[in-house]
Amino acid sequence: MKAFVFSSPPSRVIFGAGALDRLGQEIERLGATRALVLSTPEQRSSAEDVAKRLGARSAGVFHQAVMHVPIETAEAARKLAKDLNADCCVAVGGGSTIGLGKAIALTSELPILAIPTTFAGSEMTPIYGITAQGQKQTGRDARVLPKSVIYDPLLVMTLPADIAGPSGMNAIAHCVEALYAEDANPITSLMAIEGIRALAACLPNVVDQPGNLEARSDALYGAWLAGACLGNVGMAIHHKLCHTVGGSYNLPHAQTHTIILPHAVQYNRDAAPEAMACISRALGGADPASGLWDLAKSLGAAVALKSIGMKAESLDEAACLATRNPYYNPRPIEYAAIRQLLQDAWEGRRPQ
Ligand code: NAD
Repeated sequence: MKAFVFSSPPSRVIFGAGALDRLGQEIERLGATRALVLSTPEQRSSAEDVAKRLGARSAGVFHQAVMHVPIETAEAARKLAKDLNADCCVAVGGGSTIGLGKAIALTSELPILAIPTTFAGSEMTPIYGITAQGQKQTGRDARVLPKSVIYDPLLVMTLPADIAGPSGMNAIAHCVEALYAEDANPITSLMAIEGIRALAACLPNVVDQPGNLEARSDALYGAWLAGACLGNVGMAIHHKLCHTVGGSYNLPHAQTHTIILPHAVQYNRDAAPEAMACISRALGGADPASGLWDLAKSLGAAVALKSIGMKAESLDEAACLATRNPYYNPRPIEYAAIRQLLQDAWEGRRPQ
């Protein structure tokens, strides 16, 4: 056994179909009496339902959350929280809504109660991101980690298949990179392997059988493990590429993860043999890179960057951006190899 450091940010998780019924107890536990409920415009009715459940403990609803937390949205929500004298944020939704809660917590230290409805995993991390003038700045801060997380699979039943599949692949990506992270450790690796196993097994049923509660419940369990991986250890080439490519060319977050992941795994194949063996076992014996590509394809997800809006003429620049600042990866970051990785991902090639 290699020496390691294990550090897990403290958080509380309530999991299960119907867990939302525990909302009142959880708010009481936080000592909050004036909660600001957050959502996207599309999930406004879920936010209003949560506000109704909170009754007198709800101070209001802000339903303007959008992807990548534009600073203008963050400022508007911060102002409303202040005007309403809110003492807590309840974020109902995916990474975009939870990200908005984090932007509020960053400047106000209001506690967050997260009710995730996708598989992105943000609720388990102290990582925040805010976009200003087209640039997304990210950071880690203990103040933004949700104090309490209610995972209720019933709320995931409405997630459309074309969002659910890539969202699940996004979660798998957190697990994959945790296995070869610079600060990987045995506990996080256990969570990562179990996360990949659970997600790979249930995602086909999540997509093909929208009414299958057990499949969505398993996916949410995998998403929890994946989020914990992302919150516990650093990431590598895959997350760096998704951040650079997705952020610079305004590509959809979960789809970008889905497309890049098999190629990032292929890139690291020889440099991280133990992690590859774990990924393969978790995929039921499949090759790590092509197995992940096959899984994405079987979910009906996009497998080519060109099909989600990336232009061929941007690939040189993207490779430059991704190789500009040195960062940890098990295999050294080389321009020519990254350029080839991006070409393969752009064309949607199955890794060989
Ligand atoms: P999202 O939150 O943008 O949601 C995508 C769409 O699905 C939205 O329109 C939303 O309203 C809708 N939706 C969500 N749940 C639904 C449900 N159950 N039923 C019906 N519709 C539903 O997507 P996401 O992929 O969860 O989040 C992406 C964002 O999260 C990105 O900005 C990404 O950078 C961030 N993120 C941050 C972290 C972190 O640790 N900080 C981790 C992962 C993702």
